[in-house]
Amino acid sequence: MPPCLFCKIITGEIPGTNVYRDELVTAFRDINPVAPTHILIIPNKHIDSNNDVAAEDELALGRLFTTAAKLAVQEGIAESGYRLILNTGAHGGQVVYHLHLHLIGGRKMQHPMG
Ligand code: 5GP
Ligand code: ZN
Repeated sequence: MPPCLFCKIITGEIPGTNVYRDELVTAFRDINPVAPTHILIIPNKHIDSNNDVAAEDELALGRLFTTAAKLAVQEGIAESGYRLILNTGAHGGQVVYHLHLHLIGGRKMQHPMG
């Protein structure tokens, strides 16, 4: 299997606007932002989707959320609020099959449940 798009961003083979990197996760700006802040936070280990998470991934998955909280402060959206989205599979609207958490903020959004 050739490396996926987001794996290539992690290795730098494809340029991404990186905003954070540690031993478990990488964060970079979405190429097609839907709000003033739109950052994708991904595990450095390739995981296709939330259907493929294992107990051994729990530290990295937790790090997605603590990184989102840190980046929200850095982006100045912690107080105003933000949305974290993790799309899974076709019905969930997942397009890139390397698990990623969207951090979206900087504008008021409609409630997703209507
Ligand atoms: P999904 O729909 O899978 O949850 O979200 C995939 C996201 O990846 C989309 O918001 C899309 O704009 C973003 N994306 C797709 N290709 C690239 C790329 O090459 N670079 C970056 N930075 N983001 C991308
Ligand atoms: Zn990947």
